[in-house]
Amino acid sequence: MPIKSVSSETIGEAAEILKSGGLVGMPTETVYGLAANALDGAAVAKIFEAKGRPSFNPLIIHVRDIESAGAYVEITEAARVAAHHFWPGPLTLILQRKAGCPISELASAGLDTLAIRVPSHPVAQELLKTCKLPLAAPSANKSGSLSPTTPAHVHDSLGDKVDLILAAGACDVGLESTVLDLSGDKPVILRPGAVTAEDLSAALGVSVEYEQGDSDAPKSPGMLLKHYAPNASVRINAIDVKEGEALLAFGADKFMVAGDFPGDMRRNLSKGQDLHEAAANLFAMLKELDKSGVSAIAVMAIPENGIGAAINDRLKRAAQKD
Ligand code: AMP
Ligand code: MG
Repeated sequence: MPIKSVSSETIGEAAEILKSGGLVGMPTETVYGLAANALDGAAVAKIFEAKGRPSFNPLIIHVRDIESAGAYVEITEAARVAAHHFWPGPLTLILQRKAGCPISELASAGLDTLAIRVPSHPVAQELLKTCKLPLAAPSANKSGSLSPTTPAHVHDSLGDKVDLILAAGACDVGLESTVLDLSGDKPVILRPGAVTAEDLSAALGVSVEYEQGDSDAPKSPGMLLKHYAPNASVRINAIDVKEGEALLAFGADKFMVAGDFPGDMRRNLSKGQDLHEAAANLFAMLKELDKSGVSAIAVMAIPENGIGAAINDRLKRAAQKD
């Protein structure tokens, strides 16, 4: 049974689990989060596996304070004001990633922006202080089921997929954080939560509104789905590499490529056919190949089982140029 009550000892244990790439059920003031080291792509891949998500959503990164956030994202004036009023607390800010930001590309699903928040729950704060890592943490439940507000909910939903659940009673807010996008020209609420449009308008001194989704951009619960798409076109289930294409391989890459095929046009998601490793590499490798300026990327077939379904979902969208 991975549920343990909070003490300095169990927080230390949780920090060690996070440092070694494991998953921790973390109490926050909103809901229980399923936390992993956000710098470690393989650890982040475990989050998607445990939740059984059929696609990769960008995750919220939890940090101790605004100074820690400043290591990963560009803190604009509006962000400073919002943070001053609402951090620590149930407000997530979408901000531009800093150049060279070390957060895993999988955690932000390849986007140039990052969702970041400073939780106020004392146990989350203590855990962040102890592990000294940024933590990616979506709600700690199976995809499609209700968000967990007690340790028992986490255990019922995820069982032994989570290495340790820090039990700290029921969550105060019991509702996901408000998501405020500050990466564009004007602030927009992507997901409603305990911090309201009125609160944000008063603090920022401008009228803050909810995102008006356009008809072809489907909304997830209260949230516009934005996706990273490579500039190059993507050809899936490739069994060869055509002239001028880059190759994203999976497993033994048996393709004979004629002539000079530069190394920067070839990547392997996982030579050992490990889907978990492939997920961790997916966005970073697509971006690397895209950077080489090729017009197309040929991607070998990826099995559909487990986290492979989420990888294929992303590749199919890229292939359709959504
Ligand atoms: P969860 O982690 O399950 O609480 O959900 C996080 C929410 O924030 C989801 O609705 C995401 O789609 C959204 N989100 C996270 N990162 C970004 C981003 N970079 N841009 C826009 N929305 C984001
Ligand atoms: Mg959720």
